[in-house]
Amino acid sequence: MKNQLRPDRPLVGSDGGAELAVPFRGRELLTHPMYNRSTAFTVEERQLLGIEGLLPHAVSSLDQQSRRAYENVMRKPDALERYIGLAALQDRNETLFYRVLVDHVEELMPIVYTPTVGKACQEYSRIFRRARGMHITPEHRGRIREVLSNAPFEDVRLIVATDNERILGLGDQGAGGIGIPIGKLALYTAAAGIHPAQTLPISLDVGTDNPALLTDDLYLGWRHARLRGPQYDSLVDEFVQAVKDLFPRALLQWEDFKKQVAFDLLDRYHDQLPSFNDDIQGTAAVAAAGVVAASRRTGIPLTEQRILILGAGAAGIGIGRQLQDLLGAAGLSGDALHWAVAVLDSKGLLVADSHIRDVYKRQLAWSPEHAAAVGLGDPTRRGLLESVKALKPTVLIGASGQPGTFTEEVVRAMAERVEMPVIFPMSNPTSQCEAVPADLIAWTHGKALVATGSPFKPVHYGGTTIRVGQGNNAYIFPGVGLGVLVVGARRVTDAMFSRAAEALAACVSEADLATGALYPPLSEIRSVTARIAVAVAEEAIRSGDADPLEGGCLDEAVRFAMWDPAYLPIRAV
Ligand code: NAD
Repeated sequence: MKNQLRPDRPLVGSDGGAELAVPFRGRELLTHPMYNRSTAFTVEERQLLGIEGLLPHAVSSLDQQSRRAYENVMRKPDALERYIGLAALQDRNETLFYRVLVDHVEELMPIVYTPTVGKACQEYSRIFRRARGMHITPEHRGRIREVLSNAPFEDVRLIVATDNERILGLGDQGAGGIGIPIGKLALYTAAAGIHPAQTLPISLDVGTDNPALLTDDLYLGWRHARLRGPQYDSLVDEFVQAVKDLFPRALLQWEDFKKQVAFDLLDRYHDQLPSFNDDIQGTAAVAAAGVVAASRRTGIPLTEQRILILGAGAAGIGIGRQLQDLLGAAGLSGDALHWAVAVLDSKGLLVADSHIRDVYKRQLAWSPEHAAAVGLGDPTRRGLLESVKALKPTVLIGASGQPGTFTEEVVRAMAERVEMPVIFPMSNPTSQCEAVPADLIAWTHGKALVATGSPFKPVHYGGTTIRVGQGNNAYIFPGVGLGVLVVGARRVTDAMFSRAAEALAACVSEADLATGALYPPLSEIRSVTARIAVAVAEEAIRSGDADPLEGGCLDEAVRFAMWDPAYLPIRAV
C-alpha cells in the first residue's frame, strides 16, 4: 500500500503477522524508548536480547504497565509534576507512554497540552531533564541541512515547528516553546496514530525578547534579542529548503508564531510544501464545525447564517476565511458571501473606510457603502452592541482574548432577534473567555447553543443538564495531518479544512445535539480523526493535490496507517 506510515511493521513474521526488528541488546536496549518494554519483555525475549537479570522477575502485560504508570502519574501533587512524570515515561518507553495517553486521553490532554504545557514552557529551563526534538539557532546558518540530518529518525513525515514568540496566550517563551511542538505531536500520535518515529518537534530558537529569560542564568536558549526582518526570513527559508531536501514526504505544521509572521509564512510556503498553521486553520475549522453542527440543531441552513466574529487576530481572521470557504461551498457567492461574515477588532467592525494597518484583515473588511446600508455608517458607532442590533447575527464567535466582552446586554440583544442564538466564546484560557456558558444560557432563557475554547462543566438550567462542547483544535489537526500523509498531498488547502469541519460536524450524534453539545466527546477522538482523515484525503485527490490511491480504499488506508500502541512480537537483528 502506498505511503506506508508504519515503521513498526518493517518485517513480516513466519506466520505472516507483523514483527518488530530490534537492533539493540543488553543494557543499551533498556535505555532506548522506542524499543524498551521494561517489565513487559518476556522470559524468552530477555534471553534473546541479553537482558536476563536486569529486570525484576515478573512479566507485566502492557495493560498492567499502563495501569501502574497511570497510577504513578496521578499520584503526583500537581499538573506540572504530572507533566514531568509523563515526559519521563515518554523518555523511557514510548509505546507505554502512548498506551497511557490513548487510554486516558480526555483526562491527560490538559496535561500533555494546554493548559499545563504552557506552564512547562515557562519553566522549561528549570524543569529540563532530557532534550527532545531539535533546536535550530542562527549559529546554524549555512549548515541547517547538516544539523537537521542529526534528527533521531530518517523517515520523518510530520514536523511541528515554532519560533516560540506567541506560545499559547503566554507570549515569548524563548527556548521553552519547544514544549508546544512536543505536545502537539504527542496528540498527533494519540489521536491519529502517526508513529512517533515519524514525527519531529522543532524549535526555531531565533532568540527572545523576554527580559526575564535573557537575564536568567539557567536559561537554555540562544541568549540574544530576537532575529527579525530579512535575517529572520532567510533563516526560516534555509530551514524550509533543508526540510524539503531531507524529508521530502514531510508535512510541516507552523505553530505559535506571532500574527503577521504566521500569515506571511502560511502564504509564502503554501505552494512549496505541504504545510499549514493550526492557530489559524485548525482553530478556524473547529469553529466552523461547531457552526455546521449548530445549523443542524437550529434548522437554519448554512447559506442563511449571519456570522459575527469578535477579534481579528490569527484565530478570528482564520475563522472568517474558513467560514467563507464553507458558505461558498454551500452555495453562497459574490456580495452575499462577503456580507455573511462580519469581523470586529478592538476598534469595531472592519470597514474599508477606516485605516486598516494589518494586511491580513483587509480581505474580510466590508465596504463603507454596505456598512452604511445596514446602519453602521458612523465609524464611532460600530461596536459589538451596535453591530449585533444592526446585523441580527445568528452566530456570534469570540476570539478577542477579552474576558466579559459578551455582556448581558449584547447577548439579550442577540436573543431578541433570533430564536436560538449560537454563541462561541472561544478565548482561552478560561479567565479570558468572552462569557461563561452558565450566563449565556441564563440570559437567553436556555435557548443559546454554546461552545467554548476552554473546557467547562455542564450547565444545569430549567431542570435539564446542558453539555458544553469544547472547540478543541485537537479534533481537527490530527485528522488533517493523517489525511494529507496517507495520500501524500502536495499542498494543504482551505477546502481540506472545510471538509474536515464537515466531517467533524457529522460525527456529532443526535444524542450529542440533544444535550446541547456541538462536538463529540473527546474520548471518541480516534474514530473522529479517522473520519476526518478520509474526508481530507478525498478532497486532496478531488482537487488534484494528490494522486488517487493505488489499490485499496481510503478507509482501509487510513485505518492501516494508524499505529495503535501495542507490543509486536520481536525479532532480534
Ligand atoms: P490575537 O492576539 O492574534 O488576536 C486578538 C484579536 O482580538 C486582535 O485582532 C485584537 O485587535 C482583537 N481585540 C482585542 N480586544 C478586543 C475587543 N475589546 N473587541 C474586539 N476585538 C478585540 O490572538 P489569537 O491568536 O487570534 O487568539 C485570540 C483568542 O482565541 C485567544 O484567547 C486564544 O486563546 C483563542 N483561541 C482559541 C482556540 C480554540 O479554542 N480552539 C484556538 C486558537 C485561539
